[in-house]
Amino acid sequence: MPQRAGRASFCGMSKPDRLMVDVTAACACGAVEMTLRGRVLSMLVCSCLDCQRATGTGHSTVALVPAEAITLTGATANFARPADSGAIFTRHFCPACGTPLYGQSSRAPSLRMIPAGFFAGQNQWFDPTQLIFARSQQAWDLVADHLPRHQAYREQHEAS
Ligand SMILES: [Zn+2]
Ligand SMILES: [Zn+2]
Repeated sequence: MPQRAGRASFCGMSKPDRLMVDVTAACACGAVEMTLRGRVLSMLVCSCLDCQRATGTGHSTVALVPAEAITLTGATANFARPADSGAIFTRHFCPACGTPLYGQSSRAPSLRMIPAGFFAGQNQWFDPTQLIFARSQQAWDLVADHLPRHQAYREQHEAS
């Protein structure tokens, strides 16, 4: 297995999934700017059908952060739909260029799901710890073998 770049800069942290970040980036057209500053609660890969459609690829790669950790400038648009959990999941994006900005669930209104790729070029800190919705992952979509796989949502009260 190849060495994983980016780990070295966080050595000494016993929980790499609780790292602090401070990054700012803009969408593809520049109309929306987002700063993520604060504690990353969790990082994951999701292969649910909705993420496949929303990303145009086999999975989404997202960081779960407190709502107050992100600051946005510029007008945004959003699309809400029911998720498998019964919650309403809303995806926010740039209305001009379509760049995904963040997602939020009605079940967890204080959290935001940030696509790691938004911070392209400055997302070496991203280090997912699990794959969710493995049941719809496709054979052609490679996800690191070492990641714990959950068939759907991660179970509650899990140790990690
Ligand atoms: Zn844009
Ligand atoms: Zn998903």
